[in-house]
Amino acid sequence: MSTVNTRLDGKVAVVTGAASGIGKQIALSFAEAGAAVAIADLNPEGANAVAEEIRAAGGKALGVAMDVTNEDAVNQGIDKVAAEFGSVDILVSNAGIQIVNPIENYAYADWKKMQAIHVDGAFLTTKAALKHMYKDDRGGVVIYMGSVHSHEASPLKSAYVAAKHALLGLARVLAKEGAKHNVRSHVVCPGFVRTPLVDKQIPEQAKELGISEEDVIKRVMLGGTVDGVFTTVDDVAQMTLFLAAYPTAALTGQSFIVSHGWYMQ
Ligand code: NAD
Repeated sequence: MSTVNTRLDGKVAVVTGAASGIGKQIALSFAEAGAAVAIADLNPEGANAVAEEIRAAGGKALGVAMDVTNEDAVNQGIDKVAAEFGSVDILVSNAGIQIVNPIENYAYADWKKMQAIHVDGAFLTTKAALKHMYKDDRGGVVIYMGSVHSHEASPLKSAYVAAKHALLGLARVLAKEGAKHNVRSHVVCPGFVRTPLVDKQIPEQAKELGISEEDVIKRVMLGGTVDGVFTTVDDVAQMTLFLAAYPTAALTGQSFIVSHGWYMQ
């Protein structure tokens, strides 16, 4: 193999949670690399706006209203993408939320909501996409949006850390089951990225930990990095694009940390 080609011409990608933040940047990068991209999100207006942005730039895109915790909505949404664009070659299971609280105060309903979006959503979208990827063993790539918290723990984040660790297990099983159908899997594990999900946490963590918002950023969010710098949506999108385009199962079942050195495997 010569230099890895990161073009995705002719490929069809579904990115969940792509109306905002990391997922949006992945959708834009995949479209720029030539893929037809489905922007699947709970927020249909946001999904349609991203799809419109891609089409205005000459790309192929479709907004899909999808709650990843709803099995029927997931199956219908993925089948709609396959009907529109021919199949599904790449799934990026990225939709996510954050709820912070110490365990003793963590509402069971919030715990279940976190597992439903991060873990059930990953399972349901994977199952729906595999139906198309396994057909005639055409294959594909499933990439889960993990986190440094797939490997490391932080206070206040029991549900998130448990859910993000679970994605490693799912990806590893898929790597083993999917190989004979030419399906590969990965987990991308970002450090802190300034998206709405993180901005919401800054005052919440400051209150819970009894420190200033500045200290949440400096100590809690960036204290473990080598350079005190936030990871960007583009850093994560480029890693995801590389893995989506990588041509063989030399890379499968792995997790890739994109975090300015916060947590080294
Ligand atoms: P974000 O809030 O900017 O975007 C999340 C998107 O997911 C939103 O568009 C939202 O509408 C959508 N969504 C939420 N619930 C959904 C559901 N049930 N069904 C479909 N869509 C739903 O957040 P982000 O920071 O871009 O996070 C994206 C992913 O990256 C999440 O899985 C998050 O855990 C992960 N992550 C984020 C960071 C970070 O620092 N921002 C770090 C590591 C991992």
